[in-house]
Amino acid sequence: MRLYDTLTRSVLPLFASDGKRLRFYACGPTVYGPAHIGNFRTFSLVDVLRRTSEVAGLNPFYVRNITDVDDKTIKGSAKDGVPLTAFTEKWTKKFHEDCARLNLIAPDVEPRATTHIAEQVAIVEKLLAKGYAYVGGDGSVYYKVAAFKDYGKLSHFHPEELVTQETNSAGKANAADEYDRDHVADFALWKAAKDEDGQVRWEGPKDPASGTPIIGRPGWHLECSAMSAKYLGESFDLHAGGEDLCFPHHENEIAQSEAANGVPFARHWMHCVHLLAEGKKMSKSLGNFYTLADLLEKGFDARAVKYLLVSVHYRAQLNFTLDSVKGAESAMRRLDKAVNALCAKAGVDRAAFEGDALPRASAEEVAKTSFAPALDSLFDDLNTAAALGAMWEALKNEKSAADAKAELAALKTILYALGIQPIPAKDEAPASDIPEEVKALAEARWEAKKAKDWAKADTLRKELTAKGWTILDRKDGFDLKKN
Ligand SMILES: [Zn+2]
Repeated sequence: MRLYDTLTRSVLPLFASDGKRLRFYACGPTVYGPAHIGNFRTFSLVDVLRRTSEVAGLNPFYVRNITDVDDKTIKGSAKDGVPLTAFTEKWTKKFHEDCARLNLIAPDVEPRATTHIAEQVAIVEKLLAKGYAYVGGDGSVYYKVAAFKDYGKLSHFHPEELVTQETNSAGKANAADEYDRDHVADFALWKAAKDEDGQVRWEGPKDPASGTPIIGRPGWHLECSAMSAKYLGESFDLHAGGEDLCFPHHENEIAQSEAANGVPFARHWMHCVHLLAEGKKMSKSLGNFYTLADLLEKGFDARAVKYLLVSVHYRAQLNFTLDSVKGAESAMRRLDKAVNALCAKAGVDRAAFEGDALPRASAEEVAKTSFAPALDSLFDDLNTAAALGAMWEALKNEKSAADAKAELAALKTILYALGIQPIPAKDEAPASDIPEEVKALAEARWEAKKAKDWAKADTLRKELTAKGWTILDRKDGFDLKKN
């Protein structure tokens, strides 16, 4: 299995350096609200990586953190008037529910920042002792970027470029603490407690000048350095995340870890490109900001959303549109029919295919079937788009009865690696099964919608829901689905 590496900018073999397990880390969510589909594109593609590396025999050990303390979580809990832990617990639970709906395999360890304070403090104290950190004008501890000669090796730019970079893209975003740092590129390792942090504070690293612990909270970048080292070791095989994390977050993780530990941090780096929604960058003001709950509310199936999220190569941009989710739904229904047809040919019942009675084919076994190109594509830089193309191609070909069972087991492996699930074709009501009154209600709603009478359209949609039907809007019409 080969994968593009951001550090060396080349496609390199992926391997377990200890010869036993592929130790990999992915940055997880900040739990202050619902994750959006852009976040889930990254989590879904990291899930494909986890699954495919398993099929490749790499025996993955996967750690993904939960960021449960930062400005946003503190602000959110204060706004809701609940303790930070109750607030982040609520959003962590919702995140897990979404992950389950999207058929994402849970990480082997899912550590939280607030339960790893001691590990984070230990890194800051090491960095202070080694001269990579200093206490700033506001009492916070900052990382001295100039002291780490390899800074910028992942994102391929130099700290001196940051002065303009920050002014251009972030504007005044960093102005608040700019004067407390020696250099604009320096970042907070440990933030001295402020009034707005409320009760969110811990005893932190000892101030070298006074010898007393600095009360405060960890800077955001620190947790990933601390928790990856704890569960994967100071050097590990692979680090993954969204492309927006490459700089500064991942650059800062490298600087913290390599300066503190004196050994290379992650060997291989994977970054997933962000998606567009309806052709534009997602934003709440544009109305193209989707969470999974939004899409389910619109009547879409999570299995279709998942298919769409993994349908484009992780290094290419996906344009997520409601029309394309609709297309993904019919694709997953076609897949259901194809699985049924292959089951019939192989004399395997569908329950056996879904359960353990029919085991997945090994990579070697897949190689002998018509699904070989699909797995090859996944092994070649996780090319999900090519893998899906090859899968549909293989499904088109007529299989002999003698080969059908091996083909079915190979298909099972491909679906497992991609983490996609067919949508039972029976869920879609043929036009003849829709009662006349439901059809009439749906027509009336469509007319109200065209006339921009949103209130009426909404009332009619609710009536349809009450009768057990979901309406799925397309650009030029609608479909009805029985709930
Ligand atoms: Zn991280």
